[in-house]
Amino acid sequence: VTQFNLHGIEKYKIHEMQEEFAMQGINRYVRLLGVISWFLIVPGCINSADKGEASYDINAARTVKNLIPVAIIGSGPAGLSAAIYTCRANLKTVVIAGEEPGGQLMKTTYVENVPGIKRLLGSDVVAGMRDQAIKFGASIMPGAVVHIDVTRWPFMITLHGGQELCAMSIIIAAGAQPRFLGVPGEQHYWGHGVSACAVCDAPFYQDDEVVVVGGGDAALEEAMHIANYAKKVTILVRKDHFRASAIMQDHLMKGFKNIQVLFNVEVTEIVGDGVLVTGVQLKNTKTGNISKYPTSGVFLGIGRVPNTQFLPHEIETDQEGHIKLKGRSQETSVPGVFAAGDVADPVYRQAGVAAGDGIKAALDTERFLNNLGLTREMIQELESQFVGMAQTDSSNETLESLHSLADLEKVLAESKTPVVLDFYTEHCPSCLQLMPKLARAAHESEGKVVVYKVNAENLFEVAKKYNILKVPSLVVIKQGKEVARYVGDDASVDFASINGVQVLLKRIAQF
Ligand code: NDP
Repeated sequence: VTQFNLHGIEKYKIHEMQEEFAMQGINRYVRLLGVISWFLIVPGCINSADKGEASYDINAARTVKNLIPVAIIGSGPAGLSAAIYTCRANLKTVVIAGEEPGGQLMKTTYVENVPGIKRLLGSDVVAGMRDQAIKFGASIMPGAVVHIDVTRWPFMITLHGGQELCAMSIIIAAGAQPRFLGVPGEQHYWGHGVSACAVCDAPFYQDDEVVVVGGGDAALEEAMHIANYAKKVTILVRKDHFRASAIMQDHLMKGFKNIQVLFNVEVTEIVGDGVLVTGVQLKNTKTGNISKYPTSGVFLGIGRVPNTQFLPHEIETDQEGHIKLKGRSQETSVPGVFAAGDVADPVYRQAGVAAGDGIKAALDTERFLNNLGLTREMIQELESQFVGMAQTDSSNETLESLHSLADLEKVLAESKTPVVLDFYTEHCPSCLQLMPKLARAAHESEGKVVVYKVNAENLFEVAKKYNILKVPSLVVIKQGKEVARYVGDDASVDFASINGVQVLLKRIAQF
């Protein structure tokens, strides 16, 4: 056991940020940070306070170990903007990055409606915010929160994988996730023709005909992106008009000859041959007529639902799950817990608005902590009481790439152990997040499993050979035959944690 001060979190961060940065493709940081590597299991705050009604006793909190003044859940524009402000207010801040670090901007193409940004890739916008937050002292740790306990104060945050953090204040900026149609066939063909991430999966539909469902900005943006690959894209809109902004409609009308729009149609079923999507069943919302529309891909762009499933009932939400806020503040129903961005915004849902909400939440948090009596001396005292358990970790591993079909054939011919092909695309956040975990687990398997990464866009012939329609996809080959396949959001595998990936590779080693 090693004593850590809050800078100890930096050591945690250094190892885990390799995954973070690798995820962003910022490999120079990974190399830089790879010099020191730590694995820290935060043992949770050691809290003398009993579970029950939160009492907000700042003097009692002085004895709590592993206590962080501000924990931010989520690393999109809301969370990162909040971190910039709390750090500049000298409040030590940990940002828990979440399952999809960077949030929805990571899945958009160009951003041109954030003031001051004329045109930049969504992932570059996030990288800029992250760099700025880190510059002011934010610690960004990977992982997803599964529970927060607000019945006691300081609050307790539990991460997937069991780590616990104790925080004086929490800003929930967990964003939103795709909304599903809820029609027959959608789950069955998920990853086999149904997708909600055009920037990830569009390359697999080269010269195909696909549909995009929805009439908002997201649907139009998806359609325009896919149109660079597919032969024809049909946008299916359930009303007789778009919800999308005028400028997006203009973009669509001006430059895309291979996009067509069908209004007044609702998807009632996604149909296929058992393995792949072959079409959708449509209902005309005016006449009620049912028809079948052939397609090999269905992209969903029908809005988002807030990520609030992990919240306790004390934090009030509306019927759709958005966190309820008090007046013009970012305060939730629990004092000391604030919310920002799409998780609490049923109306505006813009990156710029989320960033503004994050700033407001940070200012509210600062006021809350000041009112409690938190002083600079106390912050220093808390830092000296931060305790962690550390062990060195040799996880500077990276995955080897396959560059051609010939490469692949050679590897398969020579390998005596199961070979895992990790299909990815460069703009797929979950792919880039998974890679370092796979590399580490493969290294630990001591040759019992070998893993190669395959850029599915560049090596389209290999992706086609294995019918890859969604990334990340892991295809396991033994003695030349495919013996298993795991698509990134396979519920039976825990891709989000290193433990989950280690367990998976151990299982594969037995094949
Ligand atoms: P929106 O809520 O704006 O639009 C959702 C669309 O999906 C609507 O057309 C809606 O139809 C339709 N829809 C919802 N449920 C169904 C269903 N079951 N079947 C068929 N259609 C359905 O969500 P977006 O994700 O498009 O956008 C969210 C926010 O993000 C917005 O504020 C948007 O402006 C912003 N955004 C901005 C971008 C940009 O500026 N580049 C890019 C992407 C998003 P109906 O209208 O009938 O309700």
